[in-house]
Amino acid sequence: MTEKTTALTELKGVGHARAQAFFRIGIESAQDLIAYYPRDYEDRRELTPIASVQPGQTVMVQAQLLGAPTTFRKGRLTITRARAADATGSIQLVWFNQAYLTKNLQAGSIYVFVGKADHKYNTLSLISPKFHKGIEGERGILPVYPLCEGLTQAIVRQTMRQALIDTGRQEYMPREIRSRYGLCEYNFAVSQIHFPDSYENLDLARRRLIFDELFMLRLALLRLRDQRIQDKKGFRIQAAPDEEKLRARFGFSLTGAQERTWKEILADLSSDKAMNRLVQGDVGSGKTAVAMLALFAVARSGRQGAMMAPTEVLAAQHYESAVRLMEPLGVRVGFLAGSLTAKQRRDVYERIQLGLIDVVIGTHALIQEGVEYARLGLVITDEQHRFGVRQRAALAAKSEMPNVLVMTATPIPRTLAMVLYGDMDVSVLDEKPPGRRPVKTYCVNYTYEERIYRFIDKQVEAGHQVYVICPAVEEGETGDLHSVLELGEYMQKCVFPKRRVGILYGSMKAGEKDRIMQEFYEGKIQILVSTTVVEVGVNVPNATLMVVENAERFGLAQLHQLRGRVGRGGAESYCILITDAAQTLTRQRMKVLVDSEDGFLIAEEDLRLRGAGDVFGLRQHGLPELRLADLGRDLSTLREAGEAAADLLKKDPELSREGHELLKEQADRYMERGKDLAL
Ligand code: ADP
Ligand code: MG
Repeated sequence: MTEKTTALTELKGVGHARAQAFFRIGIESAQDLIAYYPRDYEDRRELTPIASVQPGQTVMVQAQLLGAPTTFRKGRLTITRARAADATGSIQLVWFNQAYLTKNLQAGSIYVFVGKADHKYNTLSLISPKFHKGIEGERGILPVYPLCEGLTQAIVRQTMRQALIDTGRQEYMPREIRSRYGLCEYNFAVSQIHFPDSYENLDLARRRLIFDELFMLRLALLRLRDQRIQDKKGFRIQAAPDEEKLRARFGFSLTGAQERTWKEILADLSSDKAMNRLVQGDVGSGKTAVAMLALFAVARSGRQGAMMAPTEVLAAQHYESAVRLMEPLGVRVGFLAGSLTAKQRRDVYERIQLGLIDVVIGTHALIQEGVEYARLGLVITDEQHRFGVRQRAALAAKSEMPNVLVMTATPIPRTLAMVLYGDMDVSVLDEKPPGRRPVKTYCVNYTYEERIYRFIDKQVEAGHQVYVICPAVEEGETGDLHSVLELGEYMQKCVFPKRRVGILYGSMKAGEKDRIMQEFYEGKIQILVSTTVVEVGVNVPNATLMVVENAERFGLAQLHQLRGRVGRGGAESYCILITDAAQTLTRQRMKVLVDSEDGFLIAEEDLRLRGAGDVFGLRQHGLPELRLADLGRDLSTLREAGEAAADLLKKDPELSREGHELLKEQADRYMERGKDLAL
C-alpha cells in the first residue's frame, strides 16, 4: 500500500534546485516536509523596547545601528560588536565567529534584531542576533528549522506554508479516542506545530502529534505480538533428561529468581509457540547460568543453540564457560568471531551447517551471510542493549521459527520497556546470588590522585586487581580528558613500575585485545587501564577496585554497569569516581551512584536527569524515529497512548470496524515501514 504523495516540485514556487536541497536531508515529498518539525520557535509577535529587555529573554527589538560593527580576535574567537538604540535606550550587539554576517550592516540604518539577551563585556547585549532591515519581515511565532546547505529559514518556511496549503489529510484517529484523550484535529495540529497562532495552540498541537507517534508505535508492537501468538513453531524443546548433571557442574545452586526464570523459559521452549522473551537482570544476577541451561536443553533436544555477545572478549568468556560446563557432557561447542582466520571460519561454518556443532557462541559473526544453521532452535543475545532490533532479527531469521531469548542488564523502567520490548514476554532476575557484598562507592576530585594511587597499590599488594576506566583512547581526542594511552603509560612508568599495567580499548586488534583480557583474567596483569569496552559482562572475580576517570563523562546506568565488574568475588570491593566537574547536576548524578546499588532506581534517575534518548540509545534499538516524543519526558502520554492502543485492539483486533478504515491504512503503512527496522 502506498500513500498518495505530492512531489516537492509539484508545489508552487519549488524548483529543481530547491527540491534537491531538501532531498539532501531526506525530504522528497510534501508529506515528508510536513513531518519536518521545527527545532524551536521565535516569538516575533511584538517588539520589545530596549529599556525593558531582561537578560535571558529572547527578544525582538527595532533599533538604529549607532556605528559600524568592529571586529577583533581573541584566541580562536572572532568577536564582532556594535551598538544600537531605540527611543528608550541602547544595547550592545555581539556576534562570535560571524564577522561575515555583519558586513552589510550600515551605521545609521534601522534594523529589527532578534536574539537572546545576556550580560557580555559588562553590558546588556544581544548575543548573535539575527537581523533584517527596516520594518519588513514576518510577524508571529515563527518556526526555526534545522537547516543544511542550500536551505535558509525563509525558504523552509515558505515551502512549508505551500505544502500545508496543498496537502491535507483526513482525520484517521477514531472519534472516541480523540474525545477521551482530548486530542485536537489532525490538520489543525500540523498547521499549528509549524505556524502556531498562540503558545496554547502549540501545546495542543504537540500533545496530539506526540500522542500519535507513541500510539502508532505501541499499536504496531501489539499487533506484532498478536501475530506471533498465532504462529506455531513446529517443534518443541523439552527439559534435558540429564539437566542435573549440568547443574552439578555450576558449583552453586540457582537463586530463586534464576529457578523461576528458567521455569518460564522452559515453559516457552516446550510449548508450540515460538519464544520471544526478555530476561532482565542487574549486573551479577547470574544470567549466564540461565542461558547455559537453555542452550543445554536445546542441544539435548537435537537442535542448535546460538548465543551472540556484543564484544569478542565477552563472547570468548561465554565460550569458555560453555566448553567447561557442557563439553564433558558430550555437547559440541563452537566459537565464531571476527578474529578467526578465513580457514578457521570456513571450518566452523561447515560444522554448523552439517550439524556437527550443537552450541555456537560468538559475536556479530554469527549473523553474517555465509552462516547457515542445520537446525537452529534457539537464539540468545546477551547484553542486548548493545544490539539493534535489526541484528536480533537477522539472527532470528537464520531459522524459520526460532525461540528468541534476549538478556540485558540495562534496567529499563516499566513504561519504557513497554515500548522497547513491547512485543516480548519479560522475566526479571531480581535477586543476587548469595554472599555478595555491596561495592563501596566514593566520588572524589583530582586532589585525591596520589591517595588513589596508594590505594590501588594496596589492593594489588593484597593480591587483587584493579580497573581504571578513561573516557578517551588518545590525548587530545576530546580536550583534556584522561586517556587510556597516556594514563596507561604514565602509570606503568612513573607510578607502578613494578606492577604490570595493561591497556585495552575498542579499536585495538582483536587478537591483541583478547590477549590482554586473557592476561588480566589470569592475573598476570594487575592494573587494567581501559575504555568502557569492559563495561559489558566480563567476569574477573579477583578484581576489587574500579576507578573511573572523568566520571562526569559517563551515564549513570553505564557507571553502574562498570561498577558491576567488581564485587564479584568474596573480598571487599570499591568503586572510585573521579571528577573535577563542579556542576550541581554532575554532583547529583554521582550521588545517586554513591547512595544506591539498585539498577532500576539508578536508571530511573538517569532517565529523569538526561532523557531517554541518551540513556537508552533509542536509535541503537532500531526504533522508528520519534520526532517529537521524548520517552523520558512524555511518559504519561506514553501510558495513555499505550492504553488507547490496547483498548482499541481489544475491541477491534483486525481494525476492520467502521470508522477505523483510515487508521488501519495508516497503521499498516507504519508496520510496512517498520519492517526495515525489524520492528
Ligand atoms: P550477569 O547477570 O551479570 O551476566 P553472570 O552470569 O556473569 O552475571 O554471573 C556473575 C557471577 O555470579 C559469576 O561469577 C557466576 O558464576 C556467579 N553466579 C551466578 N549464579 C550464581 C548462584 N546462583 N550462586 C552463586 N554464584 C552465582
Ligand atoms: Mg552477563
